[in-house]
Amino acid sequence: MSDILKNKIAVITGGARGIGRAIATEFMNEGADIVVLDKFYPDDFETYAEEFRKKGMKITSRAVDVTDTKAIEQVCDEIAKEFGRIDILVNNAGITRDRLIMRMNEEDWDAVLAVNLKGAFNTMRVVSKIMARQRYGKIINISSVVGVTGNAGQGNYSASKAGLIGLSKSVAKELAGRNINVNCIAPGYVETEMTAQLTQEQRDAFLNIIPMKRASKPEEIAGVAAFLASERANYITGQVICVDGGMVM
Ligand code: NDP
Repeated sequence: MSDILKNKIAVITGGARGIGRAIATEFMNEGADIVVLDKFYPDDFETYAEEFRKKGMKITSRAVDVTDTKAIEQVCDEIAKEFGRIDILVNNAGITRDRLIMRMNEEDWDAVLAVNLKGAFNTMRVVSKIMARQRYGKIINISSVVGVTGNAGQGNYSASKAGLIGLSKSVAKELAGRNINVNCIAPGYVETEMTAQLTQEQRDAFLNIIPMKRASKPEEIAGVAAFLASERANYITGQVICVDGGMVM
């Protein structure tokens, strides 16, 4: 812990559990105040948040679906009014609906693109205005290594994550002059509820192509997010940082 995010206001989508919750924890430990945006909150969320509040850290949450353009606009504007600013935005909310392309239906495609790609568009279009006024901001988008490499059975998910990289690079170019950094983290295989759905065969296939021969813990993604959200990363923008045990080099 080094207080690299002291007094920063951070908004994290999908922060109720998994990687998003690990990012919220890491950011609080580094001094940031957190607003979590998530659709549903697991039963243990309030107990988790309360533990940090008791230590004097600030974490609040709003129930909102990132695919709801109007609701996201409203909630981001409310946060900016309440906290005075938004310094950091992490687009982490994501879903999978894996199927081979021949079996993938329109609903599988639309649902994944709506959360993983349009969700990030929804937050960025509002928060970028707030950050531009401040002349300060850090946006971190959680993509995936499969957005870089593609993956059989994940056409919709890979397309959404590749799209997120293209969106991030474009916005990085648009906002660089306003002192706003936009970067992606591309995790490999992380132990969360999302990957708990994988079969043993799929798990082994991942481990086979990971030089470090293990999955990552959500905390190992969160540490990189904290670095990118901090002033230590002021000269990094438009980049995709693979955090994947060497899977993609
Ligand atoms: P989880 O499924 O554990 O958590 C995803 C979070 O996103 C949940 O809190 C979920 O909330 C939230 N969410 C989903 N849909 C919406 C929505 N429409 N609006 C608001 N929140 C929503 O996933 P991970 O923690 O594993 O993944 C986090 C991110 O990291 C995702 O973008 C994922 O694609 C990416 N990633 C994960 C990898 C892994 O190996 N786990 C590898 C590479 C990338 P709810 O409970 O409401 O559904």
